[in-house]
Amino acid sequence: MTHATEQATARVQLRPGKAARFYARHPWVYDTAVTRLEGSPADGDVVELINDKGRFVARGVFNGRSRLMVRLYSWDEGEPLDEAFWRRRIEQAIALRRRLGYGDAAGAERLVFSEADGLSGLVVDRYAKHLVVQVNALAIERRLETIAQVLRELATCESITVRTDEAISKHEGIEAQRTFSADAQAPAVVTIIEHGIRYQVDIATGHKTGWYLDQRENRRAAAAYLREARVLDLFCYTGGFSMAAAMLGQAREVLGIDSSAKAIGMAEATARLNGVSNARFQQQDCFEALDEQAAAGERYDAVILDPPKFTRSRKGIDEALRAYHRINRLAVELLVPGGILVTCSCSGSVTREDFFDMLSGVAQKARRTIQVLEQRGAAPDHPVSTACPESEYLKCFICRVL
Ligand code: SAH
Repeated sequence: MTHATEQATARVQLRPGKAARFYARHPWVYDTAVTRLEGSPADGDVVELINDKGRFVARGVFNGRSRLMVRLYSWDEGEPLDEAFWRRRIEQAIALRRRLGYGDAAGAERLVFSEADGLSGLVVDRYAKHLVVQVNALAIERRLETIAQVLRELATCESITVRTDEAISKHEGIEAQRTFSADAQAPAVVTIIEHGIRYQVDIATGHKTGWYLDQRENRRAAAAYLREARVLDLFCYTGGFSMAAAMLGQAREVLGIDSSAKAIGMAEATARLNGVSNARFQQQDCFEALDEQAAAGERYDAVILDPPKFTRSRKGIDEALRAYHRINRLAVELLVPGGILVTCSCSGSVTREDFFDMLSGVAQKARRTIQVLEQRGAAPDHPVSTACPESEYLKCFICRVL
């Protein structure tokens, strides 16, 4: 290990009545739950979390620069957070993906999904032979060398690219330039195969780690409803759903729209790479595109809506739901009777119930019947931890609109 202490020398004590959530294994201890520190832990050090009576609750990593003061990793008093520990956890995460059959050497998969794999702050995605590590916690940043070493041993790869999210780095007190590194061998763009389709993924500067791996199974599920359909794919990024519609679904024609010129360029390149000529892509604001298409009286057999997060917290919920209502309402207006609506939300603070109610409001206002055919979530390489409900975030509803 590089800098941080593995042995817990300091202890972090919880206020009375605050321990239940942590016995239930939620990994995030905010400073408001803490009454005092025993010892003087440095940022990145292992600490013990104790209850108000001084009893062991869990072991985690301290970060005094963040409101999220301790990230918890083990509830076993006899288990130190040493190199063997990180190896076991990563092994356990990778074992799940092997069971899922996501190991295609030319494919892509999420090998480690942070809290959902007991590794708060660490995301590891594999794009063919290249790994992208997203560091979302100082606890992980301080142990990067160990983690990279373990990954090299457990997941055969040619390169590891490390990425940090700017906003998260700020909260965690991570210096972005210190953590951003890529192997000399790491390419900027990797070609992966998903459901037999070749996609170009920008692992150096693309969104997230380059690709929306969480939508993998939803692309295939949606495609099954799109035979001969005229499809509008809104917020299409680099063409994930569009290509699945054209190739797996045998849609008649597909129009993909996204505001990012770079994403549109990659979507076009991806269509060429696969010899697909009935998918077009257009750079435009999707709110504008919806208004324009509705005003022009355009009609589609299917509309796919996969917008970015509209809110990061419960505070922004009303505004977010209004935005979801607006785009879904317009999408419904563009649909022929019996048309298919594939509608998604990746805002974790919008619950499944909220989303369902929003759709019910849309049906009422649009005076149309919406039948929900499938209520889906993220692919199973993005598990949901019962201890950390925040690990459930993606909703994907496939509906028929009469
Ligand atoms: N469906 C995609 C992922 C979409 S992510 C897939 O399967 O891979 C959300 C996308 O919305 C991003 O590509 C982002 O560039 C785009 N976006 C965000 N705001 C937008 C806006 N107002 N208009 C159009 N696109 C927007």
